[in-house]
Amino acid sequence: MTRAYNFNAGPAAIPLEVLEQAQAQFVDYEGAGMAIMEMSHRSALYEKVNQEAQDVLRELLNIPSNYKILFLQGGASTQFAMIPMNFLSEGKVGAYVDTGAWAGKAYKEATVVGEAVIVASTKEDKYMRMPEASEIVVPENAAYVHITTNETIGGVQFQSFPEFDGVTLIADMSSDILSRPVDVSKFGMIYAGAQKNLGPSGVTVVIVREDLIAASPKTIPAMFRYDTHANANSLYNTPPSFGVFMVGLVLKWIKEKGGLEVLEQFNLNKTKLIYDVIDESNGFYVGCANKENRSAMNITFRIANEDLEKQFIKESEAAGFVGLKGHRDVGGLRASTYNAVPLESCEALATFMKEFQANNA
Ligand SMILES: *Cc1c(COP(=O)(O)O)cnc(C)c1O
Repeated sequence: MTRAYNFNAGPAAIPLEVLEQAQAQFVDYEGAGMAIMEMSHRSALYEKVNQEAQDVLRELLNIPSNYKILFLQGGASTQFAMIPMNFLSEGKVGAYVDTGAWAGKAYKEATVVGEAVIVASTKEDKYMRMPEASEIVVPENAAYVHITTNETIGGVQFQSFPEFDGVTLIADMSSDILSRPVDVSKFGMIYAGAQKNLGPSGVTVVIVREDLIAASPKTIPAMFRYDTHANANSLYNTPPSFGVFMVGLVLKWIKEKGGLEVLEQFNLNKTKLIYDVIDESNGFYVGCANKENRSAMNITFRIANEDLEKQFIKESEAAGFVGLKGHRDVGGLRASTYNAVPLESCEALATFMKEFQANNA
């Protein structure tokens, strides 16, 4: 078997060890005579899967005991709607930091539900940087401030997080959760679709402070309320059981690797290989993001000539690389280097990029 050099943006690479563990347990989970996805979500075996995934996540991120961990469905995009539904009470506004495509979608959903404002935007800089904390001006009646810690399409990432006295900070961490240590207590809520750094699509992880859940208005349907899922330990309705199982395996893999400090350094080592090629290319490759805000998860870059970009993609595919085409909205090139992307893939890409330059400069 040859594994592709997988730089997909999402769904994205899953550790080979995890896929192999899942394969070994696929047909007969723990001697039950059935697969995990064939068994009741009320069974003791599944309850253990559900609980263990929460426990390992709590340990890895050092999540305080007054936070709930939820496994939901509908992707991060459903959270864009659930956040204002649950937290935007009468007279309050949702404050959004506009850093790119995903932040913009979150804001737009909030305007459907209630009142939302953009409190800082980097649109004028084509979303190629993150705003300073001082640029973010939060109105007095803000229910929360929403940030996107890593903009998957632009390739920019907050290196430190803004703090606001007395205002709840909510973060979409879909594309960088568990890529580095984070102080969860600084956030009211963190959420992430699983398909970038946590496992397969179909599960959304929500980490939310208990006092926020308690304040949910009673007028919203059960499936869209955080308290419904929190009170039922994410078993209110049939959960995406196979996905939660996979997330659990990925979490254990991270723990075995040594945790988030180790992973952060591993990710920086990987991306340095590629950013160095860009920076030392005498302008053949041009990094899109401002250097201070470069993402350790999504490396966006261009070649001056669009025909050469097309040729780059074609030749890279022939050489076993997958997913290097930029997002359709912005074009260019993008290498997504999530936790599960091995160092060897990045080494191979760096070598390929140097050779491509030598042949085409
Ligand atoms: C991929 C992504 C989303 C969308 O996730 P879905 O699970 O497809 O809804 C939202 N935010 C960010 C930052 C993303 O990278």
